[in-house]
Parts: sequence; structure tokens; C-alpha cells
Amino acid sequence: MPVQLNKIFPRQWLVYLPAAIAAVGIFVFGLYSLKLDQEKVKINARASVINDLNLVRAKLEANILGNIQLVRGLVAFIAIEPEISQKRFAELGSEIFRNNHQIHNIAAAPDLVITRMYPLAGNEKAIGLDYQKNEAQRDAALKARDEEQLILAGPVDLVQGGRGFIGRIPVFKGSGTDDPGAFWGLVATVIDVEKLYVDSGLLDPGLPIKIAIRGHDSKGADGDQFFGRPDVFSGDPVLADITLPYGSWQMAAIPKGGWPGHSKGEIWLYLILLAAELLIVVPMIIAGKLLKERQIHIHRLQASQRSAEKANMAKSEFLASMSHELRTPLNAILGFAQMLQYDPKNPPSIAQNSYIESIRTGGDHLLALVNDVLDLAKIEADQLQLHIEKLAANDIVAECVAMTAHLGDTRGIKFIDQFSGGPTAYLYADQLRLKQILLNLLSNAIKFNHVNGTVHLQGQATEGGFLRISITDTGIGIAKREYGKVFQVFQRVIADPMVAQEGTGIGLTVTKHLVEQMAGRIGFESEVGIGSTFWIELPLASD
Ligand code: ADP
Repeated sequence: MPVQLNKIFPRQWLVYLPAAIAAVGIFVFGLYSLKLDQEKVKINARASVINDLNLVRAKLEANILGNIQLVRGLVAFIAIEPEISQKRFAELGSEIFRNNHQIHNIAAAPDLVITRMYPLAGNEKAIGLDYQKNEAQRDAALKARDEEQLILAGPVDLVQGGRGFIGRIPVFKGSGTDDPGAFWGLVATVIDVEKLYVDSGLLDPGLPIKIAIRGHDSKGADGDQFFGRPDVFSGDPVLADITLPYGSWQMAAIPKGGWPGHSKGEIWLYLILLAAELLIVVPMIIAGKLLKERQIHIHRLQASQRSAEKANMAKSEFLASMSHELRTPLNAILGFAQMLQYDPKNPPSIAQNSYIESIRTGGDHLLALVNDVLDLAKIEADQLQLHIEKLAANDIVAECVAMTAHLGDTRGIKFIDQFSGGPTAYLYADQLRLKQILLNLLSNAIKFNHVNGTVHLQGQATEGGFLRISITDTGIGIAKREYGKVFQVFQRVIADPMVAQEGTGIGLTVTKHLVEQMAGRIGFESEVGIGSTFWIELPLASD
């Protein structure tokens, strides 16, 4: 039963379904892997930026707090000794300057007016500055007073030139006790912007990150940006806060070359993805295509098989009905010819008798041919029915020998029957068909024999429970190269071109089919000019 592929794959696209599923699967898996890889690269890059930024931030924070801490010492001194002279102030200032590189100057402003300064040289312009009257610095100064906190302002342009962060620390007389006491004024220190940046590593050309800082006047993320390029804050930066005594700054950093786009691994993944698609999907598409072609091929084969079967059936039906239609009038011709020959009232003349004999011989041949064709048609249509029964082989062989003996007589051929007279052998066969087989073999043994030749019949049991009946003649024989043709339909073997042969080449084909349908075997041995032995083997039956 041919596989009904069209039922398994009712639609053409279904053939490619496994390939499509594999393609989508690989694509999704690949994209997922790429996303994971990108995430990994991004995380690594951010971790490295965080690391670098933290280093700079730590230095910056330490520098600012270090500066403030030093000034706080001076504030504590003034709180105890509010009437500090410029000389004493300068002594303490120089002490502070010995330890620090970023403080530009320190000023003391009792009642918010700058009266003391260290170093004086270069900062003279600031002496006498009244914070209350200076619009640029007033708010920050008052804030420090009111919040009672250090306020780090700036960076601002300095009166004495340059830029600086100004740390203003409010001083309360007698502070250090529980009651801070009355407001004395401010101690202001200017931290040099450039120096602070350099010492904190912000301007290091070897820094692998771009940094920006915002939070002018310690306003944190809300304050204006005062360091770095403006694009840093908009470039998805890593953020870090610098906590100041009052308020904060916000730092932002991105890698100098920008964030990584595509990693090397990503390119490899693309290649692997492509290779996977090629290695898995392409063969699947080809397999699908082949399967589809096979399906079409099977369809075609089935169609041609059906039409061949139809044609064969039509042929067999035609042959069967034609043979039947031919046999009826043929039998009538033969019957009337016989009646003419043996009519006692009007016996035919010698000449008429010979004509009638010719009609009968020709008719007999034609009838045999029609019978053979009918059998062949039935075999091909698988409609040959057999009636297998237990038979005494000896009787049937004797009957067939008797039926063909007269044919041999006309050519002086002698029969040596060593079988029928022997012990009875039983076999399983269809009686009529067994006779047909034996008659065909015997008539061939006569037909292809020499004048005055012999036909020898033998029977013997063989291994495997068979009865072998062999018919040996002393005729023209069959050449070895022609052996293959003997059982083929319509094939006649020309052993001796000088010997006229009659026949159609159907008899042995039908005989072989009949023997095999009776679970038997048929074969022959032959030698040109010496003769042939044709044998059949049929299943033996017990007595
Ligand atoms: P037919 O006898 O009608 O030609 P068969 O099928 O019976 O057809 O035989 C096929 C051919 O085999 C014969 O034509 C003949 O050439 C060869 N053949 C059959 N039997 C013999 C035999 N006993 N001796 C020699 N040739 C034979």
C-alpha cells in the first residue's frame, strides 16, 4: 500500500513547517543571546566607569573636606578669641598654608565685613568687602549666617582675579559649648578651582572617562553645571553625588570614546547564527522540497499505476471476451466439420475428406491458441481459479500419453512411459490444469522431436515432499544462450533454422504460472541436437 503523503501533508507549506519553526527558534535564540551579550558588555563598561569615577570622586571629596577641616581649626580659635589681631590671624593662616595646596586665601569678616586676610599680598582688594553690600556674595553669606552652617558657594569669579569655591563658615562667639553664643561674623576661605581639579585628578589626560559636575552653589542635581562638557549629562552617564557640609554636587561620567555599541562577541554570534541557519534550516528546506517532490512523484506513480491497471484490466477483459466469442463459433466449425467427415448418408470424397481434415487441423490449432490466450488473460487479471485436490498422478499421466500418442504416431515417435504403470503416486493439484500442463509438455516433446525419435516419461519423489515428472525427448534441443527466453510469453527459441517450428510461445508461460500456482516448480535441461528434459514438481500427498 503506497504511503498517502498527501494525507500527511495536506498543504504544500506544511512541508516547510519544521524548517520555519527551526528558523524562528534559532532567530529568537540568537537575538536573546545577542541581547544577553550586549547587556554583559554594557554592564562591564558601566562597572569600569563607576570604578574610575569613584576614584576621582573620593579624591575630590577628600580634598574639599580636608580644606574645610583646616579652616574649621581657625574658626574654633576665633570663637574663643574674637578680637584676634591681623598678626595672629596671619600666623595661624600661614600654619594652614603650610599643609595645604588648594586654599587660595583665608579671610575673616566680623559683622560680615572682611578685615583680616591671609595672605594679604595679592588679596588687598578684598579687604573692606562688605558682604551685605556685595550683591554677588550677599545671599551666600547671609545663608551661612542664618543656616549656622558652612556654605560652599561657587565656583565664582574672584574680586582679586581667578575663580574659586568660597567656603563661608559662620563664627559664633564662645562656640564649642552648648550655647553657640552671638554671631561674630564669617571666616571665608577660597579654594582654588584649578588646583582642586588638578589635585583631584579631574584634568588628568590619561583619565579614561569624561566627567561633568553640576550643583553650582552646592545645589546638587538642580544646580548649574560648572565642570565638563555639556553632552556628558545627556549621554546616559553614571551618576555619583559628592556630599558637602551643606548641599551636594552631582558628578556624571561616560567613557571617553562613548558607550560600546557592538562587541566582538556580537559579530561572532551573528556569524554563528548565520551558520546555524545555513546548517539546519537550509537542509530542512531541501528535505522539505525533496519530500514534496517525492510526494508529487508518488502521486504520479499512483496515477500511472492506476491507469496501467485500468488498461490491463481492459485488455484482459477484452481478451477474455474475445476468446470466448471466438471459441463458440470455432467449436461450431469443428463440430460441423466432424459431422461432414463422418456423415454415413453422404460420405465425402477422398478430396473432400482431405479438405475437411485441413479445416479440423487448422481449427484445432486455433482453438488451442484461443484457449492459451484466455488462460494468459486470466493469469494477468489474477482471475485464474484452481480447484486443488488429491489426485492419483499415474492415471492422469496415462490419459495424457494416450491423448498425444496419435500425434507422435504420424512422425514415428515412440513413447516410453516408465511412470504410469508404476506404484500409484498421489499429489495435490487441479486435475484439468495438470492435464493441460502435461499435454503442453508432451506436445512440445513431439513437436520439437526428430522423426522416429522417442519421448521418455519418468516419475520420482524428490526431497522436500515433491513428485517430479520428467518428459525427455530426443529432439532439436535448446541452445544455452536461449534458455532465458523459454518461459517468456510469445518467445520462441530458434534452435535449428533448418527445422520448421510451429507454435506461439504462450504454452510454457501459462504452464509455469499454473505449476507455481499449485505450489510447484518447473525447469528443464537441454542440449542442441540431443534433446530436452522438461520437468515439473508438485506437492506429494500421502496415500
Ligand atoms: P510454443 O510451443 O507454442 O511455441 P511454448 O511456450 O510451449 O510455445 O514453448 C516456447 C518455445 O520453447 C518453443 O517455441 C520452442 O522454441 C521451445 N521449446 C519448448 N519445448 C521444447 C522442447 N521440448 N524441445 C525444444 N524446444 C522446446
